[in-house]
Amino acid sequence: MTVAGTGTATALLQRRFSSALMANYGIPPVAIVTGRGSRVWDADGREYLDLIAGIAVSCLGHAHPAVVEAVTRQVASVAHTSNLFLHEREIELAERLLGLLGADGRVFFTNSGTEANEAALKLVRRFHRARRAGRADRTDRCGHRYVVAAEGGFHGRTMGALALTGKAQIREPFGPFGVDVRFVPYGDVAALTAAVSHECGAVFIEPALGEGGVVPAPDGYLRTARDACDEVGAVLVIDEIQSGIGRTGIWFAHQHDGIRPDVLTLAKGLGGGLPIGACVGLGRFGSVLAKGDHGSTFGGNPVACAAALSVLDVIEREGLLGHAARTGDKLRSGIAAISHPLLAGVRGRGMWLAAVLTRPVAATVEAACREAGFLVNAVQPDAVRLAPPLILAADEADTFLSALPVVLDQVETAVGATEAGGRS
Ligand code: PLP
Repeated sequence: MTVAGTGTATALLQRRFSSALMANYGIPPVAIVTGRGSRVWDADGREYLDLIAGIAVSCLGHAHPAVVEAVTRQVASVAHTSNLFLHEREIELAERLLGLLGADGRVFFTNSGTEANEAALKLVRRFHRARRAGRADRTDRCGHRYVVAAEGGFHGRTMGALALTGKAQIREPFGPFGVDVRFVPYGDVAALTAAVSHECGAVFIEPALGEGGVVPAPDGYLRTARDACDEVGAVLVIDEIQSGIGRTGIWFAHQHDGIRPDVLTLAKGLGGGLPIGACVGLGRFGSVLAKGDHGSTFGGNPVACAAALSVLDVIEREGLLGHAARTGDKLRSGIAAISHPLLAGVRGRGMWLAAVLTRPVAATVEAACREAGFLVNAVQPDAVRLAPPLILAADEADTFLSALPVVLDQVETAVGATEAGGRS
């Protein structure tokens, strides 16, 4: 990791950060001060091409005039109502999302992805409990025995969402949880089918592992999940918190597979930088939660909803789905065409890709990219994630593609020197 020089503005902010904020994020290497389009500037005036967009969030880039205008107008009108009162932006946004899904249903708005999954977990419990109430075959207090999720999957950090998260090193220090989760290897059709028995209440699945390294599901995997759930009456919850809102060149990644979830969770790109998430219950799953079952003071607040509406407008108006698909293809094929001993290949689709490395040096590649003026993310030890704004221009993608071989050469030299030093 590059450390800012001791006298720099970044170094000063890092010192203040480390004494005022909890240590859970370590000390971030860059202090972002401002952004415009796909570019950001740090506290020392350095410019970066932002190819990670706040972890797949800032889908219209930074300071998009439509988001600025929508948020400014809303905050100058009414910023907050609470759920004691309704406001039209929230209704409009729910209607728009259901329209994009081409489905009946209902939406519950949250402030984050993890909260959207918490809402989905409660919905699953409510659904099974109501279904089995009064029946002799009641299996347990929740109405089902367990839920299924994927090894390597990520669903959030609160206690329910964390229970679903298939990364032992971040989950296990915080157990036990109130949910029995059975993990299956991601993409393994036979393991998934075998795990979804009559005692399974739900399957929580990402269309591609995001935090797991942008690992797409094999063709037919989501269809298998759909069929397995239908077979036993389990709820299919698709977590599109990272993949949704155009990231893969289509509104929702599951639409590539032509299936329909029972519950869809969203966040990240939805607010274009403002905090908002959604738990969408499709069809009868929209009517599971009843009055008093769930709530959030800030969830669906007018400012976040106004931002989200402007995001959907701009994506539609500017044809950003097609643009993301084309620019993503350009990035993907450009990376695939690079022949370098450190590069094993590329995976993902649209503006959601991972450059896969032959060695676990992703953190060094991330740092070298940063030095070269590109923000990327070492999502796994051997995978570097790109999740740029959907507005990324073709020439910006080209700039990165021309720089990448040089960056990889630098990393190879640095790694070689470290190894030689270690041997001497
Ligand atoms: N689900 C997925 C697939 C995610 O990628 C994330 C965050 O990275 C979450 C859930 C949690 O979202 P949040 O960090 O907004 O709580």
